[in-house]
Parts: sequence; structure tokens; C-alpha cells
Amino acid sequence: MEKRIFNFNPGPAAQPLSVLKKIQKDFLNYNNTGMSIIEISHRSDEFMEILEYTKARIKRLYNLSDKWNIIFVPGGASLQFAMLAMNLLPENTQGEYINTGTWSTKAIQEAQIQKKNIKVTASSEDRSFSYIPENFTTDDKSAFLHITTNNTVRGTQWHKIPDLNIPIAADMCSDILSRPLDIEKFGIIYAGIQKNIGPSGTALVLIHDDMLKLIPDDLPTMLSYKTYINKDSMHNTPSTFAIYCCGLVLKWIEEDMGGLKGIEDLNKRKAGYIYDEIDSSGGFYKGTAEIKDRSLMNATFRLPDEDLEKKFVQEASKIGLGGLKGHRSAGGIRASLYNAVPETGVKALAEFMKKFRKDNS
Ligand code: PMP
Repeated sequence: MEKRIFNFNPGPAAQPLSVLKKIQKDFLNYNNTGMSIIEISHRSDEFMEILEYTKARIKRLYNLSDKWNIIFVPGGASLQFAMLAMNLLPENTQGEYINTGTWSTKAIQEAQIQKKNIKVTASSEDRSFSYIPENFTTDDKSAFLHITTNNTVRGTQWHKIPDLNIPIAADMCSDILSRPLDIEKFGIIYAGIQKNIGPSGTALVLIHDDMLKLIPDDLPTMLSYKTYINKDSMHNTPSTFAIYCCGLVLKWIEEDMGGLKGIEDLNKRKAGYIYDEIDSSGGFYKGTAEIKDRSLMNATFRLPDEDLEKKFVQEASKIGLGGLKGHRSAGGIRASLYNAVPETGVKALAEFMKKFRKDNS
């Protein structure tokens, strides 16, 4: 096998090696059909089985009742920003949003483009999106409060999902299936699947029946959640390959990693290696998120100057630690530590950080 690196990319991102090997093995002849997984019909028994099995795993992992609908929508999470507002904010309805960075801002903008009635209930923009707002209140009359549970660019995460008087609508792109969830607090959850659960270009959407009454009847077919629910994500040809990969990753979470609790414990350990090094570096590494809100998925930090940051990324890359450059809008370093990034890789990164600090301070 070609040499593989430890991949800290923000998304598309590291996938479990055992899953990649399984995909490779099945690729030319899926389940003795004599066809590749990308050649079989989306209406075939084989694909129907994959779809059912994938949905059943999500249902089990999040303990979803029959009132939850599990759909796959093309277009990634960015389309969800627009679809969510289009579907769940009919006339005379208000939506609330918390702005915690780049992706929340985009979700807000997509509602504003459609001239929807929205309110930005709280924001952390005053301190460069370095924290998660607390102590805000929501109106009983609002249809939902939208939050971004993990802020991929700034490295903050909602560790406590708030108890509210209205359902939460969550962009969970970068921490979906990374920890157990109190699912009753949510009305809708969406995520591009390219970080924790598969390839890019498709969103997983979980939507509770109670939200469906909000959906107008006159939406374009492919932009209405009702189409995906009524046609089991198969009104048109879905990304069969993405759904197949997603099913394999879910199997890995359930059967190899001890489910969401097992994954959460692992994610806490992994993030701990990096944050411990930051905190014991005497200020050489400076975390950009407030400690209480630090993300377990994206550890973001700065070095004393930009030249050292460049050198850090280059030297890390030379020893097989890739994808560490911060988002272009934030600068610095970002280590994305999604579910499938192995603990050995994160330990190797922490070791490298220690050595780099000693060599350069
Ligand atoms: N929301 C969050 C939190 C993200 O991290 C991203 C992608 N990095 C998106 C939305 C956009 O996802 P997509 O590229 O699938 O549209």
C-alpha cells in the first residue's frame, strides 16, 4: 500500500482506514452483483438494502423515535442554509439564529436573501468568535433557534446544548455523530457528511415530524423537505456512493468504536493531547478559543509569528502530518481531529508540537 499520512484536514477529511479498504475491496464487484457499487441501480434491491441499513444505524445511534425522518439531500450543508429557511420559515413565522462564526453567518445570510423574518439572538463576533454565547432568551413564538454546534473555522463547540422553549435547528457539519445527543432538544439537524461520515456533496438531514407543518406546499420539488421524506430520498438519483460509504462509517462507529459514547471518549482523549501541549507551552502556542468552549473536533491555535506558523506546517508535512494550515479567514494552525483521525496520529502531532517548540523558542 502507498504510504498514508495522518490527515488533519478540515473536510473532506480522514475516513476510517478499515472502511476505505472495504470500499476498495467491494469496488469492482459489489456483493457478487458483478457490478461496482457505483454501477448498480439506485432502485435495485442491493441499494435499497444499503439505504435502509444506513438509516437504521443512524436511528439506533441517536435513539430516534419514529417521529424523526432521515433523509439525504444533495448540495451539502450550504444548500441546507437556504433550504432550512425556505422550508421552515413560512410567512408570519420568525426564526432565531446565534452567530458563532463563518458558517452561522452564512446560514443567516441565506435566510436574509429570501427576506425571511429572522432575529440574531446572540453573537460572539465581539471577540472574534472565540466563544459560545450564554444567557440569551428565545421567543415562544419563534419556529426555531439555529445554532452551529461546532465552529469548524474558529474551533469552538457547544458543549452543553441549551434547554429552550423552542426547537433547535442545528448545523452539525463538523461534529455530527461525534458524541451522544439529547435529541429531544432538536427539531432539525443537518450536516454535510464529508467530515465525520463520508464523502462530500451530500447532506444528512434529520427532521422531526413536528416541523413539517411549517413547510409550504408551493416549493420547487427538489427544494422541499417533503419530497425527500415522501420519496425516501429517491425522487431523483441520490448519491448512491456517498450513502454506501456513510453506511460503512456508521457500522464502524457502532461495531468497532463502541458507539457514540466510545467515540466521544476517544475524541476527548485526542483533543486533550493537543490542548495539554498548548497549555503547557508557556505561551508559545496560543489557543484561539476560550478554554471552556474549545472544540473537540478542530483545535485552533497561533504561534509567535506567521513565519513560524508556515515553518510549522511545512515541517509537520515532511513527517506525514498533513492538513494543518488554519482557515484562510482565521490564519494560524488548525488540527481537525474528527472521529476517524487515529489516536496515534494525534499523539504524533502533540510530540511534534513539543519538539518544534523546543527547537524554535
Ligand atoms: N457548516 C459548517 C459548520 C461547516 O464546517 C461547513 C464546511 N466546512 C459547512 C457548513 C458547509 O458545508 P458544505 O461545503 O457541505 O456546503
